[in-house]
Amino acid sequence: MYHELLRNASFWTFLFTVDESLAEAAREEGCACGGRLHRANYPRKPNGGCQNLPECYKFRLSFCCERDNCRKRKTPPSVRFLGRKVYLGAIVVLVAAMRQGSSPRRVHELNKLFGVGESTIARWRKFWSEHFPQTKFWKVARCRLQLGLATAELPLALLQAFIHDKDPREDWKHLLLFLSPITITGGLVIEGNF
Ligand SMILES: [Zn+2]
Repeated sequence: MYHELLRNASFWTFLFTVDESLAEAAREEGCACGGRLHRANYPRKPNGGCQNLPECYKFRLSFCCERDNCRKRKTPPSVRFLGRKVYLGAIVVLVAAMRQGSSPRRVHELNKLFGVGESTIARWRKFWSEHFPQTKFWKVARCRLQLGLATAELPLALLQAFIHDKDPREDWKHLLLFLSPITITGGLVIEGNF
């Protein structure tokens, strides 16, 4: 029920418009030094999702300070790209979640749907079960959600909390916006003694 939407090109176009507004907010903020920001997008080569990803998926929106003595880069959060992973954030959530629950999808089925191999899926599951729960982001967000989400059920529990039947596109937007703080540098840092 979750995956039809993600194989649809219009969904990815929609997420790009969300990224554009996140980028615009970052540009308006400017650089910490007071300088203005110029576009300096990163080239990307994403995998997964649908066959015909829009052209705009060949880069991640990013900026660079215009001042010569600064030139600092600023990369806004994204609902499309999760860190440096070659797979799109929504795919990293969805495929790992589809291996969970009472009737998990088979690896070869997921491979057919999203072109993701067994070792990649294993890596993502490890990421959600071991790394992600230890991040500062999750420790704070978990309280904020007040859903009593079980760490062992990540990321399926996130899908169940956010995605409902009525307007899945909008729900995905909210889920990916919720996760967007982990898409910037330092967003997945593990803090404290867990
Ligand atoms: Zn600057």
